[in-house]
Amino acid sequence: MSSPVPLGFSADEVVNNVNLGLVVVDRDLQILLWNDWMSRHSRIGREQALRQNIIALFGEQLTPGFLRALNNAIGYGLPAILSSAFHRSPLPLFVEQDKSDVPVRMHQSIIMTPLRSDDGQPTCLIQISDSSTSVKREKMLMSHSDALKREAITDSLTGIYNRRFFDESYALALRDAKRNHTSLSVLMIDIDYFKQYNDHYGHGEGDRALKLVANVLRAQMRRPNDVCARYGGEEFIMLIPGFTDVQAEKFAEGLRVSVSDLGIPHEKSQSGAHMTISVGVCTMTPDVSSDGTALLDSADEALYRAKKQGRNQVVSGV
Ligand code: GH3
Ligand code: MG
Ligand code: MG
Repeated sequence: MSSPVPLGFSADEVVNNVNLGLVVVDRDLQILLWNDWMSRHSRIGREQALRQNIIALFGEQLTPGFLRALNNAIGYGLPAILSSAFHRSPLPLFVEQDKSDVPVRMHQSIIMTPLRSDDGQPTCLIQISDSSTSVKREKMLMSHSDALKREAITDSLTGIYNRRFFDESYALALRDAKRNHTSLSVLMIDIDYFKQYNDHYGHGEGDRALKLVANVLRAQMRRPNDVCARYGGEEFIMLIPGFTDVQAEKFAEGLRVSVSDLGIPHEKSQSGAHMTISVGVCTMTPDVSSDGTALLDSADEALYRAKKQGRNQVVSGV
């Protein structure tokens, strides 16, 4: 064996400055090495730990997974990795923080490497790294992606669903309706004389009115699969599964009244002193070959007729 190259620095210093917990135990599970990182995160000093049995030192707080891996390393020379995904926190180690704070248990990744001592006895090197930060980062990314998903389906002005969400919901609802032979109602809703409202009161007031109308429409949703979305400009769309055509028409009339009851003054409207809506409603039980366009077209055509017949009314499509 070649003679070791002089290091020029102390190996101890490396052991105590590395950002990892390092522990070596012998075959009786007595601790032979305990670095500074371990002292800091376990709150057990080196003097207290050395020559102690690791199980006795930590008491009952070691997990079965950790003990099994340790036993395999010492008894059979098998290395092991305890990933934090499956073994969150095998050892009672804590994240460093102010003394006054409640201790937070560290998420750990642990590697066990079987070694031999100078006299040929089995020992085990245990390396522990703090995966709390990566777990936190993962959580943050997940909540970030939740926020992005929410944004992607929300209309930024009114906070109700956008057209994209409606389209996706419509495709799903259509599939269910075809499978279960149940009905679907679509309501197309358009604010009357909204261009005149903007021209007269200003775009800011127009935005405010859009939000008020959106809120009152959304408030009428009763069941989890009901959808109310902004379809574009001053147009809204609703999807209600399971209504008869009479129920849908009644519901549409309720919407018309609730917007009118908001009492948003609209001097330039020719359909009343307040802001009003026109509604086209259609109910169908789609047959298996339907791609859903007939229902949307019918509701749209009914809305067109509601406008033509004087606005501030509900018209039913066929
Ligand atoms: P009708 O009764 O036939 O529906 O007439 P209308 O004036 O409501 O319809 P038109 O399509 O002529 O005008 C719609 C107006 O809606 C024009 C546009 O400036 C306004 N608008 C669309 N989106 C917004 C928005 O986000 N904010 C505001 N303030 N106005 C909008
Ligand atoms: Mg319009
Ligand atoms: Mg309009």
